[in-house]
Amino acid sequence: MEKWPLGVFTSVDAGLGVNLEVAHELGVPTIHLHAPAAQTRTPENAERFLQRLSALGITVTAVFGGFEGESYADIPTVSRTVGLVPPETRAARTQEMKGISDFAKMLGCSVVALHLGFIPHDSSDPLYAEVLKVTREVCDHAKANGQNLHLETGQESADGLLKFISDLERDNLFVNFDPANMILYGTGEPIQALKQIGSLVRSVHCKDGKWAANPGVDWGQEVPLGEGDVGMETYLRTLDSLGYTGPLTIEREIPQEPERQKAEIGKALNLLSELKQKIG
Ligand code: MG
Repeated sequence: MEKWPLGVFTSVDAGLGVNLEVAHELGVPTIHLHAPAAQTRTPENAERFLQRLSALGITVTAVFGGFEGESYADIPTVSRTVGLVPPETRAARTQEMKGISDFAKMLGCSVVALHLGFIPHDSSDPLYAEVLKVTREVCDHAKANGQNLHLETGQESADGLLKFISDLERDNLFVNFDPANMILYGTGEPIQALKQIGSLVRSVHCKDGKWAANPGVDWGQEVPLGEGDVGMETYLRTLDSLGYTGPLTIEREIPQEPERQKAEIGKALNLLSELKQKIG
């Protein structure tokens, strides 16, 4: 694969991404796929989906787990509803994540990813050990499928994430770096965090955001790529200096406004193409 192929976050049914036709119209060669709902994850659908992808010349570079009942409405809601952290849904979601890994395998995709949720900052909190345990289970299941597991950044500081990954002790656990999330959640300056996480970054989102007045308490604001506080040129230059050559996957989370979403992703693709040329 060429260096830095462009991509877009995509969904086939429920989810925040654009659909496959839009990805095709935008002319991207790669996508991150929000895992379709459980009833859709059959071998027949995987086969059909692969044929469409092949006809469109699109490669899935990561399959993202997402779960019913998750809400990104505000920071406390994320904490209560997202990922493998909430105790009420943890066992079922851990099973479901294994199913998503199996579906990704049917698609020939060697990366599965997810937001784990808010991992406790205090590693002596019993919840920390519980989240470690289920994440190991998912990692081991993915490993048996020949896959790596990528944790999406944002809900932890770089230090917190590095400690968690080190405590997890698995060689197929890496990071999907999302610079805007660091700003939206108020967990740290993204470029600094990227340098810290460094070689563990194996996939990225190109997304932009503006800091909240009270970072970590209130949400920051997600904005079109290049209009926020990430600094796209510095972001790409930092990825370059880390030796990252994988896909640049655009994420713009305004599915309720599909026309605007498509137009803004189109502009983002232009911006990334210019920066790619400039940086090389
Ligand atoms: Mg993201």
